[in-house]
Amino acid sequence: MTTLVWFKRDLRITDHAVLAEAAARGPVLPLYIVEPELWALPDASGRQWAFVAECLQDLRSDLAALGMPLVVRIGDAVTVLAEMAQTHGVDLLLSHEETGNGWTYTRDQRVAAWAREAGLPWRETQQAGVVRRLTTRDGWAAQRDKTMRQPQIEAPTAVPPLDVALGAIPSVKDLGLEDVCPERQRGGRQEALSLLGSFLTTRGQTYRKAMSSPLDGEWACSRLSPHLAFGTLSSREAAQASAARKAEVKGTRAGWTGAMQSFQARLAWRDHFMQKLEDEPRIETHCLHSAYENTRPRQPDAVRLAAWEAGETGLPFVDACMRYLTATGWLNFRMRSMLMALASYHLWLDWRATGHILARRFTDYEPGIHWSQTQMQSGTTGMNTVRIYNPVKQGHDQDPDGIFTRRWVPELADIPDKYLQEPWKWDGAGALLGRGYPEPVVDVAAAAKAAREKVWAVRRGDAFRAEAARVVKKHASRKDGPRHFVNDRDPRRSSGKRPKKSDTQLSLDL
Ligand SMILES: Cc1cc2nc3c(=O)[nH]c(=O)nc-3n(C[C@H](O)[C@H](O)[C@H](O)COP(=O)(O)OP(=O)(O)OC[C@H]3O[C@@H](n4cnc5c(N)ncnc54)[C@H](O)[C@@H]3O)c2cc1C
Repeated sequence: MTTLVWFKRDLRITDHAVLAEAAARGPVLPLYIVEPELWALPDASGRQWAFVAECLQDLRSDLAALGMPLVVRIGDAVTVLAEMAQTHGVDLLLSHEETGNGWTYTRDQRVAAWAREAGLPWRETQQAGVVRRLTTRDGWAAQRDKTMRQPQIEAPTAVPPLDVALGAIPSVKDLGLEDVCPERQRGGRQEALSLLGSFLTTRGQTYRKAMSSPLDGEWACSRLSPHLAFGTLSSREAAQASAARKAEVKGTRAGWTGAMQSFQARLAWRDHFMQKLEDEPRIETHCLHSAYENTRPRQPDAVRLAAWEAGETGLPFVDACMRYLTATGWLNFRMRSMLMALASYHLWLDWRATGHILARRFTDYEPGIHWSQTQMQSGTTGMNTVRIYNPVKQGHDQDPDGIFTRRWVPELADIPDKYLQEPWKWDGAGALLGRGYPEPVVDVAAAAKAAREKVWAVRRGDAFRAEAARVVKKHASRKDGPRHFVNDRDPRRSSGKRPKKSDTQLSLDL
């Protein structure tokens, strides 16, 4: 009898509870299902698949070294699982729990229904800190930290070979996923380990200071996000490696302790935000606070949407960030926040349309983080500070020499520094149109003011507060949680004061 291990967003053999359990039991059929319907969704893209395909190559060879390479099949999950189970005498189906989008949620329900009917037990195991069927957020943070401290699970020493055709790993072209991302990050376990190593020993030293700049952050951030998203590295591996590094550098080299603390805080945020989607899957499609449901037109303004998507808003730093993201598949946190907030406030576009565009551009698309952050940066949660970025100021602050802006918006290469972020104020602005660079799609100050008024107008009234209280109870981090947990409630409602800028409040205050 054989255990079928269904790999999803856990593309590794180390610290893989499911594989270890299956191997201890006997023969294992390790399977990845390429689901064309999933890859045709509006949040999926060619860059994500190209990354996954590289991960699958690595996983296939890591499993081959144990004795049984990865099997890959293309098709509907239920159909593939049924066929594999029947043909190969499978008596147990194991996988990690997946906090995915609505489609994967429904697919898992279909798989569960089929497994029940077929009499095949399907057991799902918790991965990282996200807890399924959580009844309350009280005590969740401590529970999550406990999971992170548990010993890592060693890879099995051997997996007996089975006589199964392995199946080819399809290319981006095979799946019809056209995408141009010349500077995309590479997938695979080896790449994940190399990034973790270089971050912990060299790149991470300036992490805290450098993370806000798109130029410096590219190097100083861990860049582990796609690996954590598709599981070539477990977040426990990252958390424990950074804890070990923190202990090692204690009292020695400047910057390292703070860097490791900040990194660990973000790993905790990862679970914190993913837990929100796990607890309330509809936040992918509905405003967390229902009062915001009809504030923006559901049919977004096509001209503004197209300008934002193409990096042609006429706002140089915004366009530079969008073009950089398009070419690399990655952007630092602060600039992701700015792109989202600009779309939702200044351009007054519905977060669902813009959220899908960003999801496709991110190689590291992780539904739980993505939709929670998308709503948070759009002011639709009802519990977070409304943060309207000034893109001109952000440009000056984060790109003071204009290197990043000029690199990604070459139309502005020769514009004087003083006008780089506001070219419409320059005497020679007329010439920019000739070069194809547009006038600003909105008046930044007027658009921000109008948005602020509309958003705050919704916040008044008892009904708003009552629902906001429900949202806080269900989703907010708790004050008694460990220090590294972000307190993501609106501080003005609890203390009446603006928060002090500290690492634990970054997601509020950035
Ligand atoms: C609108 C918006 C959408 C986002 N969508 C995604 C997404 O789809 N996938 C994704 O992984 N991140 C997303 N983020 C969070 C964050 O921007 C990225 O995790 C980070 O930039 C990835 O780079 P890094 O791995 O070098 O991060 P590091 O700074 O090195 O952080 C380490 C890890 O911590 C986690 N993390 C970091 N920041 C956050 C955060 N603010 N919230 C939750 N977890 C965090 C990530 O797993 C990250 O890999 C989004 C942020 C915003 C504002």
